[in-house]
Amino acid sequence: MAHKITLIPGDGIGPEVTFAAKRCIEATGVKIEWDEVLAGSDALKATGELLPQGVLDSIKKNRVALKGPIITPIGEGFRSVNVAIRQALDLYVCVRPAKSYPGVKSNYKDIDLVIIRENSEDLYAGIEFEEGLTQTKELIKKIEDYSKKRIRSDSGISIKPISKFASTRIVKFAFEYAMEHNRRKVTIGHKANIMKFTDGLFLKIGREVAKEYSGRVTFEEAIVDNMCMQLVQKPRNYDVLVLPNLYGDILSDLCAGLIGGLGIAPGANIGDGLAVFEAVHGSAPKYKGLNKVNPVAMILSGVLMLDYLNEKKAALALEGAVKEVILEGKKVTYDFKSNPNDSNIVGTQEMADAVIKKLKD
Ligand code: NAD
Repeated sequence: MAHKITLIPGDGIGPEVTFAAKRCIEATGVKIEWDEVLAGSDALKATGELLPQGVLDSIKKNRVALKGPIITPIGEGFRSVNVAIRQALDLYVCVRPAKSYPGVKSNYKDIDLVIIRENSEDLYAGIEFEEGLTQTKELIKKIEDYSKKRIRSDSGISIKPISKFASTRIVKFAFEYAMEHNRRKVTIGHKANIMKFTDGLFLKIGREVAKEYSGRVTFEEAIVDNMCMQLVQKPRNYDVLVLPNLYGDILSDLCAGLIGGLGIAPGANIGDGLAVFEAVHGSAPKYKGLNKVNPVAMILSGVLMLDYLNEKKAALALEGAVKEVILEGKKVTYDFKSNPNDSNIVGTQEMADAVIKKLKD
């Protein structure tokens, strides 16, 4: 029976990379019925809404989606559609593997890390108070009364909630993921030395959950700034990393840098019985419509999706085909080559064609 999957092309480079990934996924032979829905700027033009309810309904019905990136203009009226989807569907885990592929330009080899980022709270909860508003001034006054500390009256305020509930479920997910994927170690990243009641709580819960897995998966903890330095110096000391939302976001880009850039970094947002697969990269608007950017991050997000759908053979075959195309380096996008005039550079769709050809060979 065909899997029913919601397809959200996104905007900017989204439609190009999503189309390339869709073709590669179909070439594995796995039967999929796509339910294509618009979100982002195309949806705004067509319906007047950035995130029409039909998008959320489709994901809820199909339980799985493949999503292209969507633009979030900085400082303008609306919050990120990407964050809104995660929050509306309680996709509380973000899984972002960072794996080296031979043939990719990078200062590192043999990286194989997985970031498990808490997706539902922390400074990304969207609880913010704008500078100058009456309610912001009232809030500042209240906080000063409670904390006996001074906040400048011309401040904006963002709230960082970290709960026992969300910390427990994300750390448990990280350990279960480690067990299922034969990983040796989970490291929790935090700044509990400074933020005792938020990161401190995350760490305390982490230590408690880790006890349940003692003897099966090693547990370590690291202060997040030190973790950044160590990831750059000794990345092989890490395996699965579990992090609160903001640090998880920042470190997944750092880890994408270790493996050669955003063009090859896939991701998944997972909740209870629901999952949305998307690349780590954004919609890179300046490359829109040029058939230029790298489709691999989106194709590898498709690999994660096939794995999630229990189509393990197809997932392995597709990842293998991508690996071969990258290693051969004969039909790859511009970002794989140092010389922009290299005759082996092809466009987004042509690289996807090369992957499809490998699958069929
Ligand atoms: P970006 O990831 O879109 O692009 C940054 C740079 O990375 C690009 O200029 C390009 O040089 C490179 N890059 C990205 N994807 C690539 C690919 N597939 N192949 C080759 N090179 C690639 O980041 P940004 O410019 O900070 O963000 C652009 C927009 O995307 C913003 O509005 C942002 O909010 C949004 N965004 C969306 C998501 C999402 O949909 N999940 C994620 C991140 C950013």
